[in-house]
Amino acid sequence: MNDHQPWDFTCKTCGSHKLTVTRVWKILAGPDSEIWQEWGPLEADHLWRFEFKEKIEKEKYKDDEVERRDFGEYTKDDSSSKPEEYEIFEKESDPEGDEFYVNCAGCDREIEFGWSQPNRGGRIFPVECSDFIPGECWPEPRYLDSWHQKHWLQTVDGQP
Ligand SMILES: [Zn+2]
Repeated sequence: MNDHQPWDFTCKTCGSHKLTVTRVWKILAGPDSEIWQEWGPLEADHLWRFEFKEKIEKEKYKDDEVERRDFGEYTKDDSSSKPEEYEIFEKESDPEGDEFYVNCAGCDREIEFGWSQPNRGGRIFPVECSDFIPGECWPEPRYLDSWHQKHWLQTVDGQP
């Protein structure tokens, strides 16, 4: 390592030393919602920099749509194959619905991580980093159960 990296990460699967942080969020655009993601490297100081951004295609409906157009016919009234997308009409805008992921930059393996402050604040500490200390991070909510089983949960008043 040529920069001052205070922690080490070596992927046990592919040997990569780099981690990628990804944020995924949803935008409501008419009857369809769009899902976007941005991602970038986790830096030496446990902060991250988003370098890329893209819209995630709606895999679920896309093929269906393309197929319909190929027939060159408007099949909207075909009740047996009514597109489900009309049912997705939620007004909910949920800023807390953002999802964060940490993955190995080499093989894309998901790595559990915690935050240095509650409510997903502060810095990101992946559990496979050499300076990760269980009990000193607040878990990403998705890993709460997993951490509970490992007895890694933050103890508020210093009690084990
Ligand atoms: Zn890897």
